[in-house]
Amino acid sequence: MRIVVASGKGGTGKTTVATSLALVAAEQESVRFMDCDVEAPNAGLFLNPALDTRKEVGILIPEIDESTCTFCGKCAEVCQFHAIAVVGKKTLVFPELCHGCGSCALVCPENAISERLDVMGVLESGPAIHNIDFAQGVMNIGEPMAVPIIRELKKWEVANPPPIEIRDAPPGASCPVVETIRGADFVLLVTEPTPFGLHDLKQVAEIIRELGLPTGVIINRDGIGDNAVQEYCDQSGIPILMRIPMDRQIAEGIAQGHSLLEIKPELGPAFSEMLAQIVQQVV
Ligand code: SF4
Ligand code: SF4
Repeated sequence: MRIVVASGKGGTGKTTVATSLALVAAEQESVRFMDCDVEAPNAGLFLNPALDTRKEVGILIPEIDESTCTFCGKCAEVCQFHAIAVVGKKTLVFPELCHGCGSCALVCPENAISERLDVMGVLESGPAIHNIDFAQGVMNIGEPMAVPIIRELKKWEVANPPPIEIRDAPPGASCPVVETIRGADFVLLVTEPTPFGLHDLKQVAEIIRELGLPTGVIINRDGIGDNAVQEYCDQSGIPILMRIPMDRQIAEGIAQGHSLLEIKPELGPAFSEMLAQIVQQVV
């Protein structure tokens, strides 16, 4: 079962929730935790993995052999991203536009295109606390595309998938979030009861509605703001599965690198109950 923890907005406590869910799930089943927030992965701070495996990832960029290229232009015609162009007796590749789809190499009648790996980041994995099988993607600074790294992370070591996989999604509601959600069985949305929280919740809830996936909401910092998130969830038929109260002690503990369940172990049963509800919905 693949559960994605997402939030339209950064700073809502998404990683706090995702790691807490992994910790309670690991009491019952073997768990894989995947930090798909590849621009700023930080779940490892709370799960303390021993990262003993590493792999470079990226996309395959075309390279042109000008001694065999006839400058026919077929590669430029097939490229949807305008990442290749034939100008007179030159075939030019623009790596920053290339998505590594391989179409140009497929259509080249002269086999003049080879491919080289353009490294965009690394995948890292290793055992974390409570035997959680931990993996994360780390994107190189300045890279424009997170999606290829997330895609490779999801494919990595799929030979023996554990019963529960928890993915910590990037913030926002754009392509990296969609890629993280793709293939999931359930999406848990973390929000806060403020106008900003509601605005971003609506955006990501719309994506999930279009993908037709079951979902539920967890309200973090409950007690601040207003009832608009509750009203939106009621109108949209999205269940609110749990609330985490606004508590200064939680904020301070997390800032010091402690997991939520270390700071507030009394929240453990509520997380277990939420996990049971998710399992029930999916099954
Ligand atoms: S399709 Fe092949 S031969 Fe034609 S321009 Fe591109 S690289 Fe050259
Ligand atoms: S690999 Fe795909 S995106 Fe890149 S240049 Fe070739 S056709 Fe364009």
